[in-house]
Formats: sequence, C-alpha cells, structure tokens
Amino acid sequence: MVVRAGREFLAVPGPTNIPDQVLQAMHRPAVELYSKPLVALTHSLLFDLGRLFGTEARRYIYIANGHGAWEAALTNVLSRGDKVLVLESGKFAIDWGDAAARLGIHVEVLKGDGRHAIRPAEVEARLHEDKAGSIKAVLAVQIDTSSSVVNDIAAIGHAIRSARHDALFMVDAVASLGCVPFEMDAWGVDVAMSGSQKGLMTPPGLGFVAAGERARHAHRNAGLRTPYWDWTTRDGDSHYQKYAGTPPEHLLFAFRQALDMLFAEGLDNVFLRHRLLAQAVRRAVDVWSRRKTLEFNIIEASERADTVTTVLTADGCHPEALRDYCESKCGVVLGRGIGTLNGKAFRIAHMGHVNAPMVLGTLGTVEMGLRALGIAHGAGGVQAAIEWLGDKVRPDAGARLETSLAR
Ligand SMILES: *Cc1c(COP(=O)(O)O)cnc(C)c1O
Repeated sequence: MVVRAGREFLAVPGPTNIPDQVLQAMHRPAVELYSKPLVALTHSLLFDLGRLFGTEARRYIYIANGHGAWEAALTNVLSRGDKVLVLESGKFAIDWGDAAARLGIHVEVLKGDGRHAIRPAEVEARLHEDKAGSIKAVLAVQIDTSSSVVNDIAAIGHAIRSARHDALFMVDAVASLGCVPFEMDAWGVDVAMSGSQKGLMTPPGLGFVAAGERARHAHRNAGLRTPYWDWTTRDGDSHYQKYAGTPPEHLLFAFRQALDMLFAEGLDNVFLRHRLLAQAVRRAVDVWSRRKTLEFNIIEASERADTVTTVLTADGCHPEALRDYCESKCGVVLGRGIGTLNGKAFRIAHMGHVNAPMVLGTLGTVEMGLRALGIAHGAGGVQAAIEWLGDKVRPDAGARLETSLAR
C-alpha cells in the first residue's frame, strides 16, 4: 500500500527542486557561442551574482559543482606549502580543508563539536597567536549542510580584523546563497563561493566564485594556479575565455530564469520565506523531540540554519527506516545523516524552491512515518508548524524580515 504518485518531492539539501519555469528555460536549441545575446546573458549573470554575494568584487562562473568552486577558490590565491586555518562546524569546511591538503597546503583545523556554530572569539585568539602570519587564509562555511548550523560570517570577519591578521577570509555559501543574507563586502570576506543546485534552484553544474581586492593581490603570486580555474585567464576580453572554453549555455539559460524568479519575489521576501518555513520546521521538530527519541543536532536555537534541519535519532531508532518509508510510501525524499552522523540522523531541507504546502506536506509525511514506524515522538508537530505560520503570515500585513527574525 502506498500513497505516492506523481512528482517525487525532494526534501534533500541539494540538488533541490527545480521550478518548472527553470526546466523549461533549458528546452531550446543551442546558440553560437559568441552570439550577442549569449554574451549579454553572461554579463547579466555576473552582474546579478554581485547582488547575491553583496559585492563589487569580480565574479566567475565555472562549469563545476561546489567541489570545483572550492578548488577554484584555493588554487587562485594559495601556493603549495601555505597554511590555512579551517573553522570546523560540520563536515563541509573539513572537506574543503581536505581538498586544500591534497593540493599541498598545510591545514590546521580549529576544532568544533559539530553541534555549535564557530566561536568568533576562538578565531580571534588563534590568529592573535600567529604572530609570524603563517596562516594565509581562514576557511569557513556559512551554513554547514551536514550539521545544519549557521555561522555568523560577519562576526568571524570582524574577529579576523580585530586580530589584525592578514589572512584571507574565504567563505563557502553553497547552502545559503539566495536563501539568507550574504554581504561579502560589508563582512570583510575576500573570497566567496557557491553552486547552482541548492538555494539557487538550478541544475547542478555551475560553480560561482567572487574575488575581492586582497584576494586578487594574493592571486598574482599564487603558485597553485592552473589553466582552467585561473582568474587572470578568465579576465580576458573574449567571451570564450570567461568559461575557459564553451559556455554551459543551457545551465546559463536556467540560471537566468531562476534569478529572475528570485528578484521578482524580492530577495528580502525570499529570505523571509526561508526564515518562516524554517521556523515552521523547527516548531515541528521541537514538538516531536518531547519524547527524547529525536533531537535537534544544533543545540542553540539561534544557531539553527534557515535552509536545512538535522534531526538526531536516539539509538535503536533507525533514521534510514524513516527515510525509506517517506520515500517509498509517500514520495518524499529526506536527507540522510552524513559524515559522523551517518545512520544517526535525518535531514529536512527547506531551501530554494519551497513554499508552505511543500514544507507542511513534508512535515506531515515525516509525522506520518514516525507514527507508522512506531517511533516515539511528541504528537502535534505539524499542528505547531501550522500555528506558527498562521500567526505569522497574516492576511492583511506585508511581513517584514526584521520583525520576524525572532525564533
Ligand atoms: C553541497 C555542498 C558543497 C558541495 O557541493 P557539491 O556541488 O556537491 O560539490 C559544499 N559546501 C556546502 C556547504 C554544501 O552544502
């Protein structure tokens, strides 16, 4: 007996649901790769990436996933033998650091416990100790998709400046760009990177990097530069050089459509929508957690991300059984626990092309699964989510981000 039919719903943190309009934007013939409209398209995308990243810094579009954009960021500013400080808050900064290590970069990890955000004061203290300035870059993730923590990038940027340290600040915004505010210039970020397939509602395959002044300066002497990733090559006049070869035309058509949708909604509203829906998820998880079988991975409410929620499961409660039930019976695909949380957690993604019915439907499906599998949980999680949304999304008022920031 199943109650699934029609389109499967992806509640995984990437790739995410692709809007029909974005899919349709790709259904067209290829164009000549120097054609004027295509050159103009590249121009418009690079311009709008500046709006998303909150920067005047130069932007690059790679045919790559997030791992590729990581490598682009590292190889353009660092040399073999350089040292970087990785700020741990889950799996992804560690993986970025592993990529650096394989490039011959020395990696020091500022340890985290996977259940808290990065502590800016610890970053400042560590940099303060580094009198010789041996640390060339600090690597952090804004939202770590494994732990579901959100780090305070502004505060970390401030900590680096307070330590009067010259390290470049490099930030991964793969699971956050276009979902929560990002202000590269205001926050003192030197290199920011992201990808197309999470909050940006586009198929996997585009990697984005923004490179500030200090990063461009470091770039001049970076020893790890390679032909494909190299910023200088891509700064050339020819459109062909912008992609170090043939442009990923159809992904660009798709991305244009996704950006048009984000800007038509208004970024502030996009951020607010993510906040409201995330909070609805958290209300539900909070209620389910009352029986001690389930628990938020991130302990502090203020450190829980607006794009994904990682739920820990007690010993003897099998998250894979729940995931399997939701997928095979209901057509809802939840995220699995990854890294150290493999087999110990499930994740509910709420990023990108999400709305109230998708999120309430997902929560309802999870609650249905908990009941069907006999997993102890507080009843009424979905009800709590409905009450939250019903109280916040009023018929008369235009909602405002500031007034809804409280969790
Ligand atoms: C998904 C993700 C990545 C990796 O992106 P891929 O496209 O899978 O290479 C990196 N960082 C974060 C925070 C992510 O969520």
